Amino acid sequence: MNYRQFFKSRLDALRAEGRYRVFADLERHAGGFPRAFHHQIGADITVWCSNDYLGMGEHPAVLKAMHEAIDRTGAGAGGTRNISGTVHDHVLLERELADLHRTDAALIFTSGYVANEAALSTIAGQMPGCIVYSDALNHASMIQGIRHSGAEKHIFQHNDPADLERLLAASDPARPKLVCFESVYSMDGDIAPIAEICDVAERHGAMTYLDEVHAVGLYGPRGAGIAERDGVMDRLTIIQGTLAKGFGLIGGYIAGTNDVVDFVRSFASGFIFTSALPPAIAAGAVASIRHVKQASALRARHQDRAERLKRRLAEAGLPVMPSPSHIVPVFVGDAPLCKAASDDLLDRHRIYVQPINYPTVPRGKERLRFTPTPQHSDADIEHLVAALQDVWARLPMRRVA
Ligand SMILES: *Cc1c(COP(=O)(O)O)cnc(C)c1O
Repeated sequence: MNYRQFFKSRLDALRAEGRYRVFADLERHAGGFPRAFHHQIGADITVWCSNDYLGMGEHPAVLKAMHEAIDRTGAGAGGTRNISGTVHDHVLLERELADLHRTDAALIFTSGYVANEAALSTIAGQMPGCIVYSDALNHASMIQGIRHSGAEKHIFQHNDPADLERLLAASDPARPKLVCFESVYSMDGDIAPIAEICDVAERHGAMTYLDEVHAVGLYGPRGAGIAERDGVMDRLTIIQGTLAKGFGLIGGYIAGTNDVVDFVRSFASGFIFTSALPPAIAAGAVASIRHVKQASALRARHQDRAERLKRRLAEAGLPVMPSPSHIVPVFVGDAPLCKAASDDLLDRHRIYVQPINYPTVPRGKERLRFTPTPQHSDADIEHLVAALQDVWARLPMRRVA
């Protein structure tokens, strides 16, 4: 085997398909979001695809808590959670998260990906005979966790409680069951019918696992997510979230009853055998959650920015895809064209939006995915719409989604 040739030819194939990933080398300006310095082009650009949805990654209260924690306790946690690495800031953060979701307990992981992988592989893998029912558009981290569990898996049609009902009704009533889904799907921006899915799950005695990664901080009176907004938070067995999107830092978590959280804490390899998050991250996350809990005006401004952008794109005749959430996808439908549009926006307009290609979305569904934040001004929105009109006039882009 010519190893070098193998790697090179696979990368060449990616390039030929127009979906080779090029990272933008950015330097964010604390206090200047959504502006950042783009090192490859040597200029400031406006970021339009950040998952720091509320700009909490630069919030003064968060930065202050992190500085203070570094000075008080140092850089790293010093170990795994079990061996000398549980620091008081972790304990406070887990209490804060349990309070946010009104659960008995919460457990933090080094990322949202790890939380899904570890929790799902452990719960579905350890429970004898467990059957998993997974939404067709679930995130890679959930798919990986379910796969890793080795449990029998059925995929139900996206956001379709009737299809879930059909699958559950066909299964052995005596076997344990776990229904896995998300609240806000990050590429289309659509929202799950959580109450209906819980109704179906309850009828068939199934547990529910809800990924609220793209909703925590953003929806509900205290920013606990769509389940809080819909008044159904107490119906879910497990809620999973991230500290890296709406809360602006890094880390993931699950929240639920004492028993299930303690079970994952005690049996999940991806929790046990890895070093704990630095205390400054935990302290920053506590500050962020506390701020966001009472920041209804910030949430309203976030929704207002998304509404305004969708309206202005539609008025400009651009193929904005319908979405009931803060995510604003614009349809392209071709990988090289998606990359060319993104390059043009950057080179000609200093606008940064990453092209979204397969496997993140199916082939033929390529798009530009915009994530307006409370920090994007009316002028930023007008600049973006004008830039897109320029790109749509220069390249052979479609006008309808
Ligand atoms: C980003 C994402 C994750 C992973 O969260 P990280 O904290 O970034 O690792 C999990 N689920 C969904 C749906 C996501 O989009």
